[in-house]
Amino acid sequence: MATILTLAVSGDTPPRFPTICVGCGAAPVVTSSLGLAKLVAGRRGSQRPVKLTWPVPHCAACARSTKAVFLAQLLPFALGFLAVGGAALAAGWYGAVSFGLDEIGTTNPRTPNSLVLAGAAGLAGGIAGGFVMELVARVLLLPAFGRALWAAPLLVPSIFTDADYVAGLGGRLCADGTQVTLTFAHDAVADAFAAANGHRTAEPAGPPAAT
Ligand SMILES: [Zn+2]
Repeated sequence: MATILTLAVSGDTPPRFPTICVGCGAAPVVTSSLGLAKLVAGRRGSQRPVKLTWPVPHCAACARSTKAVFLAQLLPFALGFLAVGGAALAAGWYGAVSFGLDEIGTTNPRTPNSLVLAGAAGLAGGIAGGFVMELVARVLLLPAFGRALWAAPLLVPSIFTDADYVAGLGGRLCADGTQVTLTFAHDAVADAFAAANGHRTAEPAGPPAAT
């Protein structure tokens, strides 16, 4: 059973992690970093970046698995993004040019309509392609990675929800950037963490608000 804790953000001060591996409870030898970043809307429409990098204690095996899982997500995503995004870009451009879109009046001659349309098609296609490739790779790699990969969230939703994941621990910034929701894979680790950070933890206020 996973334990979810909500922690108040205080500057970039990392919380105190108990000296056990967050992934498996063994003695920690290295740290992996949990990185969370988000643009938070401030007053008068201004935007303020919130960026947290927290060192998380890991044993050698869990740190290795964190890196391997990250690559197992990133490489297929990059491949799918380039292949499908490139194809969508070329198709969008060809289509727009052959439809004579550039002959229609444009406000800026340096960015022809066809290029704008092709860029949008390429980006949307690339994200969709990367997402599908990551799903395919996950199914293919599952026998090799086992639980470590299964427990990791998918990359594309993670990017859009400002979340990060290391072995045994997931983190997500809330909408206003004042709290972090931490999901511990192991209750014992979560209990030790809660005891060490009692002054900063809060009970999760119901299900997280939709963003
Ligand atoms: Zn470990």
